[in-house]
Amino acid sequence: MKTLSEIQQQHGDLQKGIEHPRLGNILGFFEEVGELAKEVMEIETYGQPKRANIGKECADVLFSLLSICDSYGVSLSDEYSAKVKEIEGMIPEWKVKYGKTLEELRKKLD
Ligand SMILES: [Mg+2]
Repeated sequence: MKTLSEIQQQHGDLQKGIEHPRLGNILGFFEEVGELAKEVMEIETYGQPKRANIGKECADVLFSLLSICDSYGVSLSDEYSAKVKEIEGMIPEWKVKYGKTLEELRKKLD
Protein backbone atom coordinates (compact mmCIF):
# COMPACT_ATOMS: atom_id res chain seq x y z
CA MET A 1 0.00 0.00 0.00
CA LYS A 2 1.29 3.46 -0.92
CA THR A 3 1.66 6.24 1.61
CA LEU A 4 -0.18 9.49 1.07
CA SER A 5 3.15 11.11 0.17
CA GLU A 6 3.74 8.45 -2.47
CA ILE A 7 0.23 8.90 -3.83
CA GLN A 8 0.77 12.67 -4.08
CA GLN A 9 4.12 12.13 -5.80
CA GLN A 10 2.51 9.73 -8.28
CA HIS A 11 -0.26 12.26 -8.90
CA GLY A 12 2.29 15.01 -9.55
CA ASP A 13 4.26 12.83 -11.95
CA LEU A 14 1.08 11.90 -13.81
CA GLN A 15 0.04 15.53 -14.20
CA LYS A 16 3.42 16.80 -15.45
CA GLY A 17 2.86 18.77 -18.63
CA ILE A 18 -0.91 18.90 -18.26
CA GLU A 19 -1.21 20.86 -15.02
CA HIS A 20 -4.35 22.98 -14.88
CA PRO A 21 -4.31 26.57 -13.67
CA ARG A 22 -5.07 26.91 -9.95
CA LEU A 23 -8.58 28.19 -10.65
CA GLY A 24 -9.27 25.17 -12.86
CA ASN A 25 -8.14 22.90 -10.06
CA ILE A 26 -10.54 24.33 -7.50
CA LEU A 27 -13.41 24.30 -10.02
CA GLY A 28 -12.58 20.69 -10.89
CA PHE A 29 -12.59 19.82 -7.20
CA PHE A 30 -16.10 21.23 -6.74
CA GLU A 31 -17.25 19.45 -9.87
CA GLU A 32 -16.07 16.16 -8.38
CA VAL A 33 -17.60 16.92 -4.97
CA GLY A 34 -20.88 17.54 -6.81
CA GLU A 35 -20.62 14.20 -8.58
CA LEU A 36 -20.00 12.49 -5.22
CA ALA A 37 -22.99 14.33 -3.75
CA LYS A 38 -25.14 13.05 -6.64
CA GLU A 39 -24.14 9.47 -5.81
CA VAL A 40 -24.99 10.00 -2.14
CA MET A 41 -28.29 11.61 -3.11
CA GLU A 42 -29.22 8.59 -5.24
CA ILE A 43 -28.70 6.35 -2.20
CA GLU A 44 -29.96 8.51 0.66
CA THR A 45 -32.76 10.44 -1.02
CA TYR A 46 -33.97 8.16 -3.78
CA GLY A 47 -33.37 4.86 -1.99
CA GLN A 48 -31.13 3.40 -4.66
CA PRO A 49 -28.71 0.63 -3.67
CA LYS A 50 -25.08 1.57 -3.03
CA ARG A 51 -23.34 1.79 -6.36
CA ALA A 52 -19.76 1.23 -7.40
CA ASN A 53 -19.62 4.82 -8.59
CA ILE A 54 -19.44 6.15 -5.04
CA GLY A 55 -15.92 4.77 -4.69
CA LYS A 56 -14.91 6.18 -8.05
CA GLU A 57 -16.25 9.58 -7.11
CA CYS A 58 -14.35 9.49 -3.80
CA ALA A 59 -11.19 8.79 -5.81
CA ASP A 60 -12.03 11.68 -8.17
CA VAL A 61 -12.38 14.02 -5.17
CA LEU A 62 -8.98 12.93 -3.83
CA PHE A 63 -7.38 13.29 -7.26
CA SER A 64 -8.71 16.82 -7.68
CA LEU A 65 -7.77 17.72 -4.08
CA LEU A 66 -4.22 16.60 -4.82
CA SER A 67 -4.23 18.88 -7.86
CA ILE A 68 -5.05 21.82 -5.59
CA CYS A 69 -2.34 20.76 -3.13
CA ASP A 70 0.24 20.46 -5.91
CA SER A 71 -0.63 23.83 -7.38
CA TYR A 72 0.01 25.50 -4.01
CA GLY A 73 2.98 23.37 -2.99
CA VAL A 74 1.09 21.75 -0.11
CA SER A 75 2.12 18.36 1.25
CA LEU A 76 -1.24 16.74 2.01
CA SER A 77 0.50 14.09 4.09
CA ASP A 78 2.12 16.68 6.36
CA GLU A 79 -1.02 18.77 6.65
CA TYR A 80 -3.21 15.75 7.28
CA SER A 81 -0.87 14.45 9.97
CA ALA A 82 -0.96 17.84 11.70
CA LYS A 83 -4.75 17.90 11.48
CA VAL A 84 -5.08 14.42 12.97
CA LYS A 85 -2.84 15.46 15.88
CA GLU A 86 -5.04 18.50 16.45
CA ILE A 87 -8.25 16.45 16.33
CA GLU A 88 -6.87 13.70 18.57
CA GLY A 89 -6.75 16.22 21.40
CA MET A 90 -10.42 17.07 20.96
CA ILE A 91 -11.80 13.54 20.64
CA PRO A 92 -12.29 12.82 24.36
CA GLU A 93 -14.35 16.00 24.78
CA TRP A 94 -16.32 15.36 21.59
CA LYS A 95 -17.11 11.81 22.70
CA VAL A 96 -18.62 13.11 25.93
CA LYS A 97 -20.35 16.06 24.31
CA TYR A 98 -21.63 14.50 21.05
CA GLY A 99 -21.13 10.73 21.23
CA LYS A 100 -24.62 9.71 22.39
CA THR A 101 -26.43 12.07 20.01
CA LEU A 102 -24.36 10.91 17.05
CA GLU A 103 -24.96 7.25 17.93
CA GLU A 104 -28.72 7.87 17.95
CA LEU A 105 -28.57 9.77 14.66
CA ARG A 106 -26.59 6.95 13.00
CA LYS A 107 -29.26 4.45 14.11
CA LYS A 108 -31.97 6.72 12.72
CA LEU A 109 -30.34 7.82 9.47
CA ASP A 110 -27.96 5.05 8.39
MG1 LIG B 1 -16.24 12.21 -10.94
